[in-house]
Amino acid sequence: MAENFPIIAYFMVIIFIYISPLMSKQPPKLETNFLPPNLQNLSIAKTLRDDPDAIKLASSDYGNIVQEIPAAVLYPSSKNDIASLIKFAHSSSSPFNIAARGQGHSVRGQAMARNGVVVNMTSLEDRINGSGIVVSRSPSLGFYADVGGGQLWGDVLHATLERGLSPVSWTDYLYLTVGGTLSNAGIGGETFRFGPQISNVFEMDVITGTGDFVSCSPEKNMNLFHAVLGGFGQFGIITRARIALEPAPKRVKWVRMLYNDFTAFARDQEHLISINGRKQNNALDYLEGLLLMNQGSLGSPHDWRLSFFPSNDHSRILSIIKKYGIIYCLEVAKYYDDHTLESADEELQVLFKGLSFITGFTFEKDVSYVDFVNRTGKMEDDSKLTHPDGVGPTSHPWLNLFVPKSQISGFNSGVFKDIVLKRNITTGLVLFYPMNRNKWDDRMSAVIPDEDVFYTIGFLHSSGFDEWEAYDAQNKDILQFCYNAGIEVKQYLPNYKTKEEWKNHFGMKWRTFQERKALFDPKMILSPGQRIFNDN
Ligand code: FAD
Repeated sequence: MAENFPIIAYFMVIIFIYISPLMSKQPPKLETNFLPPNLQNLSIAKTLRDDPDAIKLASSDYGNIVQEIPAAVLYPSSKNDIASLIKFAHSSSSPFNIAARGQGHSVRGQAMARNGVVVNMTSLEDRINGSGIVVSRSPSLGFYADVGGGQLWGDVLHATLERGLSPVSWTDYLYLTVGGTLSNAGIGGETFRFGPQISNVFEMDVITGTGDFVSCSPEKNMNLFHAVLGGFGQFGIITRARIALEPAPKRVKWVRMLYNDFTAFARDQEHLISINGRKQNNALDYLEGLLLMNQGSLGSPHDWRLSFFPSNDHSRILSIIKKYGIIYCLEVAKYYDDHTLESADEELQVLFKGLSFITGFTFEKDVSYVDFVNRTGKMEDDSKLTHPDGVGPTSHPWLNLFVPKSQISGFNSGVFKDIVLKRNITTGLVLFYPMNRNKWDDRMSAVIPDEDVFYTIGFLHSSGFDEWEAYDAQNKDILQFCYNAGIEVKQYLPNYKTKEEWKNHFGMKWRTFQERKALFDPKMILSPGQRIFNDN
């Protein structure tokens, strides 16, 4: 026996070497007490993670203000994994919450699920390895792209450009997911003409809160289609969206003009967006606006907000900002290609006739279409999206509002002049531009003011991690001022704490929103971080 021992030991080592990889493929047991134990018996258990890296990512977002710890994170290998998880949660005697997470670029925990499961949508797209964007054409729709819900808009741009095509409605930043922006609206400089991104979707595949796969469009399962667009992730997880495409332009004339008179600025913006037919050649392709304020950090000629302008002009721009306190900057673009170069120039000249910007303060660039659409770059490369001093952990206490046109002048004097300028803490970008209500579809869940033209105002604050409360206090004062002055603002990317506030936000749409929730997610398990039906 003793002499056989080395041989037995040898075989045991060999056996161990062979079976240890198999043993390590067993799903690690989840340590959580919050999920039903029989979840471990499902085949998706192997794609659930509760290790510190997975939990840390899923309990944080771009805002860096809210933290909610999930019990586990699903890294789906197929859409079926997501459906199995939701079906299980829905039919369990103790249902748990589930949130799709795109890039987690929300600012108030909207993609989090305390003690529930976060579904990492981008991991699904990574696994299907580039097959998540398919470009096609049909006689009735023209060109379109079928795109996975976790795809980044930047990847959609590159894939469609390879075919000489492009979506028509963009957000300013492209490293957001398709499912994430469609759950809000997806707005930017093209919205006045082409509508928000939700107005450019032909159909979707959705896994509802009961775990069912449903294809929906304005013709088929239209109630779900309209519910999901702008629906804050409340009715289902978008796994595919069919996005409208047009031939891609090659180049862009990109122009900024400065105003010291708010009334002239708003009048010119409103005039320019009144020419807005989708096929109207003499319309602009893009219009936004921003504020340049005489505040602490905008004293330096090296400030990133001046980077668009030629460096030789920085000092004269700074001097008018100092003189007037606030300078309003109109930003427009006209797309062109080899055949339309001359006409684009002429059309711009006609459009600019009669505008009231400060003489001598108009600046033009000529850039490629891809550089224009991707002008904010990717966050890691782009210091303007991080802490103003470029150091330390950053929070983003953003406030995004829609303000009716009829009340915009009161907003300018009460908010910009009396609160923001006087308080002198605003460091990030302040966006300000109008859009047309008729480019939105009122049957969708997204909520906008009840006027033909309304403005979006984005206070895109960056603050030190321990400074965000001062910005939050300013945000609250802005909302309180609007309330007291009867300015009927709607929040975009809203952040409310009570059901009463949500009811008020939705107004006439609240009843429909509730009915759709009861229909498509009756156990109220989806996207609890929005805090509409859950306290999270
Ligand atoms: P997440 O933050 O991960 O998710 C947002 C919500 O949608 C959550 O409730 C989540 O559960 C749900 N959700 C995510 N994926 C799905 C899915 N597949 N199906 C159903 N529900 C889902 N917005 C604009 O409109 N215009 C802009 O120009 C713009 N610029 C931005 C610039 C930056 C730098 C940042 C950080 C944000 C910007 N946003 C803009 C806001 C952006 O649209 C939202 O943050 C949006 O939520 C997209 O982010 P996301 O893909 O990371 O989604």
